[in-house]
Amino acid sequence: MTRFIFITGGVVSSLGKGLSAASLGALLQGRGFSVRLRKLDPYLNVDPGTMSPYQHGEVYVTDDGAETDLDLGHYERFTGVPARRSDSVTTGKIYSTVIARERRGEYLGATVQVIPHVTDAIKEFIQADVDDCDFVLCEIGGTVGDIESLPFLEAIRQLANELGRERTMFVHLTLVPWIPSAGELKTKPTQHSAKELLAVGIQADILLCRCDRPIPPAARRKIALFCNLREEQVIPAIDVATIYEVPITYHAEGFDEQVCRHFDLTAPEPDLTRWREITERIRQPEGDVTVAIVGKYTHLTDSYKSLGEALVHGGIANNVRVHLNWIDSEIFEREDAVQHLENVHGILVPGGFGERGSEGKIAAARFARERKVPYFGICFGMQMAVIEAARSLLGLNGAGSSEFGECPDPVVGLMTEWMRGNDLERREAGGDLGGTMRLGAYDCVIAPGSRAAAIYSATRISERHRHRYEVNINYRDRLESAGLRFSGMSPDGVLPEIVELPSHPWFTGVQFHPELKSKPFAPHPLFTSFVRAALEQSRLV
Ligand code: GLN
Repeated sequence: MTRFIFITGGVVSSLGKGLSAASLGALLQGRGFSVRLRKLDPYLNVDPGTMSPYQHGEVYVTDDGAETDLDLGHYERFTGVPARRSDSVTTGKIYSTVIARERRGEYLGATVQVIPHVTDAIKEFIQADVDDCDFVLCEIGGTVGDIESLPFLEAIRQLANELGRERTMFVHLTLVPWIPSAGELKTKPTQHSAKELLAVGIQADILLCRCDRPIPPAARRKIALFCNLREEQVIPAIDVATIYEVPITYHAEGFDEQVCRHFDLTAPEPDLTRWREITERIRQPEGDVTVAIVGKYTHLTDSYKSLGEALVHGGIANNVRVHLNWIDSEIFEREDAVQHLENVHGILVPGGFGERGSEGKIAAARFARERKVPYFGICFGMQMAVIEAARSLLGLNGAGSSEFGECPDPVVGLMTEWMRGNDLERREAGGDLGGTMRLGAYDCVIAPGSRAAAIYSATRISERHRHRYEVNINYRDRLESAGLRFSGMSPDGVLPEIVELPSHPWFTGVQFHPELKSKPFAPHPLFTSFVRAALEQSRLV
C-alpha cells in the first residue's frame, strides 16, 4: 500500500522544501521503506527546459530524458532513487494534457473546468507510475497563498479525503524569523501560514519550522496551540553547515518518528552513520584545493547546483575542501586570463548556451592546456576545448561552433540524426526549442587504455545529455593526429562523447553531464579524479 506525503511551503520561498523532502525520503529509506519523490510545479511552462537558469536555476535531466526542476537532483542525491519523467509535473503539462483530451472529445461534451478536470489530472499524475513503493513524497512548488498553486492544493485535499488520513499526510514548511529589534523569535508568520492552508481545507500534520537558532519550548508550544498540533508535531529545522546534515538534525528532532506515528507504523531507527561520516569529512577536511568555474551564470550558483554538489562529493572522496572560484568568462575577453587563473588548481568550464562569453571559455581552455592545469570541460566546456585545440593545434583560426552562426570550420555542429539503441532519432534545425535536444541517458564506448577508461574502470558507460550541438566527427582524424584523443564515442561511432589530451596531466572534455549522477555516497569517478588532479596541482604551485 503506497502512502502519500505532501510537502508544502509557506511564509517565503527558498526555505528548502526540496531538501526537506529529500531528507525525509532518506530517513524513511533508513527505516527500511521504499520511496519515490515527486515535484509538482505551479508555473505554466511545460517544463523548465526553456527557462533561463537565472529564473529557475539548473535544469535537472533524468535518465529518461525529462528536463525537470533542480529539486529532483536533491531527491536523487539523497535517496539514490533515479528520478523519472513521471516525477515532475507542471501546470503547463497538466493543462496540455487536459486540453488535448478536450480536443479529442474525451470529456463527452462536458464543460471542462479546473474542478474536477484539472484536479483529476493532477491526482492521476500523483498516483501514476509509483511501483508499489511504500511512500510517495510530493513536493508542491511555490508558496501557499499563490494563485497558481491553488489547483494543486485542491487536488491533494481531495486525494486525502479519498484515500483517507491513514494513507496521506501533510507536511508544511514555514519560517520562524528572529527579529533583532525585539530580540525574539516570531511565530506569527507560521500561524498565518498554517491558517492559509486551513482556508483551502488542509490541516498540516507536521510543521517544519526553519529557524536560524534553536526554537525555545514555549515558542514551540505556542505554534502547536495555534495550529491544532501536538508539540512533537512542530519540528524545528535549524540552519546547518552542510545540507548533508539535514537528515541527522531532522531525525534528532523526531521528524521520521512523527511520520511513522501518523501512519501507525513501527519501523527500526535509521542508521545514520554514513551521513555522520560525510558530514564530518565535509566539516573537517585534511586539505584544500581551489577550482575555477568559468561560466556565464556565475552570479546565481543555483544554475550549477548539481555541479557544485558533485565537486563537494569529489572533495569528500579525496578528503579535501574544494573552494570554488566562480568566474564570469567574459572577463577573459577583456583581461588576460593569467591573473585570474594563476593560483587555481583546476579549471572547470561547465555547460552553457549561446555565443556570449564563449571566447572567454576558449581562453580558459587555452590557459589550462598551455599551463598544464587540470581542465574539466562539461558539454559546452568540451566543445570550447575542441575549438581551442582546432585553432591552436591545427591552426584553424576560423574554427567555431555552428551554434554561433556560420564559420569556416564548424568543429562543433548540429547533428540531425543519431541512434539511441536500435532507434533512429532526428532533430530539425528549425524545430521547437523545448525538449528537442539530445536528452537523457545514452551509452558511450570508451577506448581501452585511455585516461577515461582508467577513471571509470569501464569501457561502456551511460551518462545523461542535454545539448543540441556535437563535436564534428569530420575533424576527428586531424585533431587526433595533433594530440587530442577521442576516447569516448557513441556506440554507433558517430558522436564524440569524451576527448582528452594524453600529453597533459589532466585534460578531459565530456559531452554529457556527469554531475547529474554524482552522489555523496558515490562520488562520480570523473569528479573524484579531477579533484585528485587538482590536489596534485596544488602541491606544485
Ligand atoms: N550549447 C551547447 C549545445 O547545445 C552545449 C549545451 C550544454 O552545455 N548543455 O550543444
